[in-house]
Amino acid sequence: MSEPHTSEDIGRLEVICGPMFVGKTTELIRRIQAAEASGLSVRAVKHQLDDRYDARALATHDGRRIPASTIERPNELLAFEEDVIGLDESHFFKVGLHPVVMELLGKGRRVILAGLDRTSLNEPFGEMARLLIEADEVVKISGTCAVCGGIAVHTVRLFDSRDDIVVGGSGMFENRCRRHLSVSGSSS
Ligand SMILES: [Zn+2]
Repeated sequence: MSEPHTSEDIGRLEVICGPMFVGKTTELIRRIQAAEASGLSVRAVKHQLDDRYDARALATHDGRRIPASTIERPNELLAFEEDVIGLDESHFFKVGLHPVVMELLGKGRRVILAGLDRTSLNEPFGEMARLLIEADEVVKISGTCAVCGGIAVHTVRLFDSRDDIVVGGSGMFENRCRRHLSVSGSSS
């Protein structure tokens, strides 16, 4: 039997997913800081759309932040040469992220993605489903249903829009359990 491949030659993909406001970015920052503390070079990246808290940092609702680069298209990730690349709000990239991640893995990089796994209409978000299949590790964080207090894996939007991607804060979205997925059925 041949020697098993190590992460230096096959890369490593970690995906942190779940509904909004459950601490996905906090977990991403924790992993990036831990990698840096272990001596690896790290790069935090975010989509240009997401400037809710700080345009030059990954930031959480509770004020945690680390410096981040901002990109518009997935292939801009290929310019980064760090050992570990952490990308927040990965679902904002509708197309093209999957092949770029595969290329980074092929170069032996460790890629950590955080983002929503599904849209508010309960469809796979962008290429997240393909990336989840490819992942070496998936961390799925659940939230609390705004109606019943049960475990929530969905985020619903409380306003009408056909656009998948809406940058917004609390008050525009709510996490819901499977039973309370329908906004109109919130009193059942
Ligand atoms: Zn519920």
